Amino acid sequence: MSVEALKCKECGTRYPLDARYACEACWGPLEVAYDFSSLDPESARRRIQAGPNSLWRYADFLPFESPPRTALPAGMTPLVRADRLADRLGLREVWVKNDAANPTHSFKDRVVSVALPKARELGYGVLACASTGNLANAVAAHAAANGLESYVFVPSDLEEQKILATGVYGTNLISVRGSYDDVNRLCTQLADERDWAFVNVNLRPYYAEGSKTLAFEIAEQLGFEQPDRVVVPIASGSLFTKIARGLDEWRSVGLLEGDAPVFNGAQAEGCSPVAQAYGAGLDVCRPVKPTGIAKSLAIGNPADGPYALDLARRSGGSIDAVSDDEIREGIRLLAETTGIFTETAGGTTTAVLKKLADRGDIDAGERVVLVITGEGLKTLDAVRGTFEAHEIDPTVDSFSDAFASAQPV
Ligand SMILES: *Cc1c(COP(=O)(O)O)cnc(C)c1O
Ligand SMILES: [Zn+2]
Repeated sequence: MSVEALKCKECGTRYPLDARYACEACWGPLEVAYDFSSLDPESARRRIQAGPNSLWRYADFLPFESPPRTALPAGMTPLVRADRLADRLGLREVWVKNDAANPTHSFKDRVVSVALPKARELGYGVLACASTGNLANAVAAHAAANGLESYVFVPSDLEEQKILATGVYGTNLISVRGSYDDVNRLCTQLADERDWAFVNVNLRPYYAEGSKTLAFEIAEQLGFEQPDRVVVPIASGSLFTKIARGLDEWRSVGLLEGDAPVFNGAQAEGCSPVAQAYGAGLDVCRPVKPTGIAKSLAIGNPADGPYALDLARRSGGSIDAVSDDEIREGIRLLAETTGIFTETAGGTTTAVLKKLADRGDIDAGERVVLVITGEGLKTLDAVRGTFEAHEIDPTVDSFSDAFASAQPV
């Protein structure tokens, strides 16, 4: 197996593969380092294609000696060609990666799938997280399925659907009076004093590896080819940067050819520290206090902000922000053209794709992948009042009155 060590993203100092996330020398973030030099692309591709119908088919690129067994398999979500969406936007080739089609209906099933077996391997009996909503759902569900105790910390103003879709799994649900950034600070303190696996705090380097599998799937589903451009939502910036890392790894071992795609990041104006820094030409983000309807993206102090900025610039992309009204329109646009109902994060991503198309940033021949990360049923308030149901009596006359334009022929 190829996994080697934890490594500081800033100074390169190496550490053993245990529960740590910050460099002792420079406080930089740690990530998993691999040595793929003995990996043969042909046999790697055969192992992938013969592998399970879940993200464990990519075990060669994940931080385990051998593929772990987990009780709630995630991944292998559909990549669908979206010609009607492309038409509406004046584009030629758009694909939607529908990652709402996961066990708890968001891409967070991927990161928890990797963090949970690592927690078990490191001897933890309790799984925990600081969440903007979807991670809470995933930690509670995967802990339940695998027989672990869990503690899930969320901001108290979360959507009701996300609270209900967490509590149902029998977790310890803690609703914190404060923003996500307050919740995260609290969890960082608790991680210091308790022997718990906080998936996105002390296990963050492993958690983040789970997001690479989204990139692997897109490439495999395109026939081991890369898209020309990906549009991805940004909260902490982990998913955005790890999709790039996944494709980098596959190019480095010879599973993919060509240049890296262009990376466009999507934020909501209610919480857009990365888009603001991008627009101002800065290398770091100034923390903001989140507002607005895109609660799953509401991280005011994004851990991977500087890396997201670097990726957008290096790849020739951008990081854009859209308003709450544009997010609602984005949800409707995706639903009406693809049949996929996404939450506010997906509305944000779709609205940013529209913005790029309107701005003329996308060339005619490009193959674009829109990454949809969560399910519309979790943020129903975002579409409330955007259409009307026609209430009638159970008679043909009543129907004909209501629908005068739809007369029988
Ligand atoms: C968590 C989340 C994201 C982005 O997460 P990062 O912190 O940037 O990795 C995007 N969409 C949804 C629906 C999420 O729940
Ligand atoms: Zn360091």
